[in-house]
Amino acid sequence: MPLEVDMEMHARDGMFMELALEQAALADAQGEVPVGAVVVDVAGQVIATGFNRTITDHDPTSHAEVVALRIAALHAQNYRLPGYSLYVTLEPCAMCMGAMIHARLTRVVFGAQDPKTGVCGSVLDLPAHAQLNHQTTVAGGVLAEPCGHILRHFFKKRRSKDTQHVEN
Ligand code: ZN
Repeated sequence: MPLEVDMEMHARDGMFMELALEQAALADAQGEVPVGAVVVDVAGQVIATGFNRTITDHDPTSHAEVVALRIAALHAQNYRLPGYSLYVTLEPCAMCMGAMIHARLTRVVFGAQDPKTGVCGSVLDLPAHAQLNHQTTVAGGVLAEPCGHILRHFFKKRRSKDTQHVEN
């Protein structure tokens, strides 16, 4: 890839990941594990946002990616989103990566790695399976530090709350 194009993509990835981080902060404010996502259409417009809301929705599938994908597909009036990209602050899990492959997304960009449930290289590497009917390009590590920090901060806060609870 020519350097200029590469740098342009790098800047754009950072900008969209900032928006995903804003979504993660919204999850944090609601006591949800802070993960955020945005979907960008073929023209480079953000058409959907989402944040993790599993507790609020009583729904184990309400991960940021799924929430954003549902809005994006409704907006596009199509369950397939070829040419679209999704930005998410945390490496996707198997469920979300599966949904994104079903949606025929062209590109997935994530921030921090998830050594516990990540399937883009951490626990498994789903997108690497050439047998899958659709190939989605995956890039990781975009703004990994702030994306990971908001999560670490959340769990630290939660742990200290748990400790206080035990002491009381
Ligand atoms: Zn997920």
